[in-house]
Amino acid sequence: MKFKFHTLSELETILHAEAVSPEDYMVKREAFIAGISEENVLSELDRRIAVTRSALLKGLENPQYSRSGLTKGAAVSFASSNKGLIQHTLYRKAVAYSLSINEVNACGGKIAAFPTAGSSGIVPGTIWAWWDAKEEPIETPYASRLRGAFLIASLAGVLIAQGATLAGSEGGCQAECGAAGAMAAAGLGYLEGLSLKDCFSAAALSLKNSLGLACDPVAGLVEVPCVKRNAFLAVNVLVAVDLTISGIQSVIPFDEVVGAMKQIGDVMPACIKENATGGLAITPTGLAFKETLDQYT
Ligand code: SF4
Repeated sequence: MKFKFHTLSELETILHAEAVSPEDYMVKREAFIAGISEENVLSELDRRIAVTRSALLKGLENPQYSRSGLTKGAAVSFASSNKGLIQHTLYRKAVAYSLSINEVNACGGKIAAFPTAGSSGIVPGTIWAWWDAKEEPIETPYASRLRGAFLIASLAGVLIAQGATLAGSEGGCQAECGAAGAMAAAGLGYLEGLSLKDCFSAAALSLKNSLGLACDPVAGLVEVPCVKRNAFLAVNVLVAVDLTISGIQSVIPFDEVVGAMKQIGDVMPACIKENATGGLAITPTGLAFKETLDQYT
């Protein structure tokens, strides 16, 4: 079986020729690359999914306070509030879960990078929100549908990594939270039973709305704007999937959006590529915070 592809259209050709589903293909590909059995790929996948579930629960059970003081239990505040404009269960859970996982990361807890630590709340936050909102059973080994959602999300990540980058230092936050949003949209589309083409149209819609996103973390810490951005991207994902379900397609195909992302990342100034020398990091408040922090280090 051929495991090299650079674009979604190349991948579609392989899937068609091999008569294999995209999620099964991802397992076979991983087994080939890692030199392990498909069973081991699936058990490692389950282990990582379990890490995301534990992080999610940890951040909701106890407010997460980081040593810097920038992270202050937003997930618990949001989850315990019954106020707010939107009371839909899926929305409330997607926001709370994405915040929760990313707050755990900000506090040095265990997470699964998806695709990175700073963007780790978006994919599992939205997938688990969907799963819990539908009251699907949680048992290990995990259901093939749940695994499939993570695998399709990973497939979107592979395509972005190959066509552009998943590093904030190379492409700004479009490459981290933006990429995670595209991955989550593909995964959620899968859960909704969309075709591969539609999953990636949803991914394209989400990614288009993140192009040019700066990486400008205050004091160089992966907290502001990262934690709350995970929640915003989770909502972005829900809109992208809902638009797709309504029959609204991305005008620009996924592969071309990834190409645009690379081009934008290439011309993006270095000061907004993770080195905390631009944007929010150099606002008066951001600089004052850094100065206070520097006194203690
Ligand atoms: S702002 Fe920078 S550090 Fe924070 S999640 Fe985005 S890319 Fe990562």
